[in-house]
Amino acid sequence: MKIHIWGCLSGTEPMPGKHHTSWALEKEGALYWFDGGENCSRAAHLQGYDVRKIRKLFISHSHADHTGGLFNLFWVMCKLNALDRRKGEEPPQVAFELLAPDPELVELIKSQLFFLSGEKENPRIDVRKIREGVLCDEDGVRVETLRNHHIEPDARGRGTSWSFRITAEGKTVIYSGDVRSTDDLAPFLEQGCDLLLMETGHHSAPELCRTWQERNYAIGRVLFMHHGREMLRDQGDVARRCEAIRGKTVSIAFDGMELEL
Ligand SMILES: [Zn+2]
Repeated sequence: MKIHIWGCLSGTEPMPGKHHTSWALEKEGALYWFDGGENCSRAAHLQGYDVRKIRKLFISHSHADHTGGLFNLFWVMCKLNALDRRKGEEPPQVAFELLAPDPELVELIKSQLFFLSGEKENPRIDVRKIREGVLCDEDGVRVETLRNHHIEPDARGRGTSWSFRITAEGKTVIYSGDVRSTDDLAPFLEQGCDLLLMETGHHSAPELCRTWQERNYAIGRVLFMHHGREMLRDQGDVARRCEAIRGKTVSIAFDGMELEL
């Protein structure tokens, strides 16, 4: 089981060598894909992964630094199909579920793409509105959601952006998505995890570490991603301060990072 970081950046202006947020958990060749920042399909393809191996795609919220690469991702799938046909091979039938807070946005991207590419039902992308609870429990991968408050709440006062907990092969991974504060993640963090993928676009990493220490959360490994200005200024200094507080190492994501779990 591996974690692939396709893009490590928060919603900044373009920066050399870094792209907006997207990552995937790979288990037995299948990709459980989270968020779709600008460069995700290019990064995955150039690292040798067939993006048609997506089993599920989860979107934490609809901001462009998490969805800007979806059009290109679908396009690459169609292009790979066309290349297979040119070689005289029938492309694999691709079908996956995409869970998003705003399905209409994804449907719009899909409709434009299929109009342009001429593909009809390959890939078949079943877009569903993301919901509370267990989104996926199949082939040894379980994905649960937690509402967070990065986006304004709905009319019933409920958070409309999402964090995730993934359990596979006896390991637990928490992905923050974008959050208003670490309090949003408390129901998951209180139960501990082997790996926490934590955004720093809206938070100071050392302050997060201090809060987690004070609350005695059992977090095995921390991988900071969705980098904000503090991290981008001097990530070595941030890492040292975090490690002094935690008493163990932290990891800082980069585009193309691969992590064995
Ligand atoms: Zn973001």
